[in-house]
Amino acid sequence: MSALDRQPPYYLGIDLGGTNIKSGVVDDVGQPLSSVSLETEADRGPDVGIANLAEAGRRAVSASGLSWDEITGVGLGSPGTMDLPSGMLLEPPNLPGWNQLPIRDLLAKQLDKQTVLQNDANAAAYGEYWAGAGRNTRSLVLFTLGTGIGCGIVEEGRIIEGRHSHGAECGHIIIQMENARQCSCGGYGHLEGYASATAVVKRAVEALEHDRSASLLRKIPKDELTCRAIDQAAVAGDSLASRLMRETARYLAVGAVCLMHTIDPDIVLFSGGMIGAGLPFLEAIRNDIRAMAFPTLAQKVRVEYAALGEDAGFIGAAGCARMAFSKSQ
Ligand SMILES: [Zn+2]
Repeated sequence: MSALDRQPPYYLGIDLGGTNIKSGVVDDVGQPLSSVSLETEADRGPDVGIANLAEAGRRAVSASGLSWDEITGVGLGSPGTMDLPSGMLLEPPNLPGWNQLPIRDLLAKQLDKQTVLQNDANAAAYGEYWAGAGRNTRSLVLFTLGTGIGCGIVEEGRIIEGRHSHGAECGHIIIQMENARQCSCGGYGHLEGYASATAVVKRAVEALEHDRSASLLRKIPKDELTCRAIDQAAVAGDSLASRLMRETARYLAVGAVCLMHTIDPDIVLFSGGMIGAGLPFLEAIRNDIRAMAFPTLAQKVRVEYAALGEDAGFIGAAGCARMAFSKSQ
């Protein structure tokens, strides 16, 4: 992008993950000017982690070619649990030892910039709404499929944070009551326990143990079995892998339909581990949704893959800074 196409003011977005930090400077219409990533080193504790967050932010500003003074504010997306109004992390499972941490204010102090905290999946949903696959919509639901299932909801430009900072935790929607699988949160029957990338691999390992039929998946060492590999086997015609992917599409469709019947959004998006699965997988989700949703919703709500990939988190976090600190908003 040439300097002329950039639209001030500018915001710094930082996406904190258990393994990596991704950050970038974003302009007033959601275009990223830079993107850098750095290891979180979460196991070295919050002091090192916050220093790394600040370093990732400084590098992103440096890579954008802007001066530090041109940055209006900072948005930080973080995995939960958290209290958004006070900017505190509570007990984040992916960041062991970062408990009861005033992360927003600690980062603001290090960077000497006004900073806003948001849940990472909410930030990603806002990124897609602002500058990705949800651009030009008014209402959006995003499911991010990784180790867990994150979810974010944007309605008329507002993120649904909930009264206690735990709105849109739709990875924990209950989709099974009897003989239910345990979710990583400890609960039973939650969507995440069935359809996260991790859960799909776990289901594949179990299926290989119980089902003695021939399968391409048997040729893959257990520690190399990924969602992508399972999908590739399905595309190659493997019946066990095809069944796993079909079931996964159905679980995700159940989750999507619950949200459609609650929110009635313009669009439902999926991002993360299963995106490489391509159109047949998306079409399977759409078919299952059509079979389960109210006819009007099945007809009108669009179901798509997200567009921004791993950049959605920092772009959306920058968008949250824009919402919080832009004078024109
Ligand atoms: Zn759960």
